[in-house]
Amino acid sequence: MIQFECPKCHVCYEVDDALLERFVVEYGLACRAPQNHLDLTAAVTASLIAAGADQQRIVDVGACTSCSLEKYYSYRAQNGTCGRHSAFAVRMSSCT
Ligand SMILES: [Zn+2]
Repeated sequence: MIQFECPKCHVCYEVDDALLERFVVEYGLACRAPQNHLDLTAAVTASLIAAGADQQRIVDVGACTSCSLEKYYSYRAQNGTCGRHSAFAVRMSSCT
């Protein structure tokens, strides 16, 4: 099982045309959300599938760090005021 949360959801992550186009070219049209918003969930999912992950085992926990500041830190939403940021991924060799 692969679980992830995106730093921004498709509702709050507006980007310029050039950046949006780069994601569409790399990860597909699903990345293009209404009003020039970037759907990072779609990009992460496409990337995981391209890397060989089973789509049935991918779970988006539905959290957005920017929309849930009481629970998460968001570099962009808080203008980098916290000074910390991290991410990690682990692939268990026993998982298929
Ligand atoms: Zn959000």
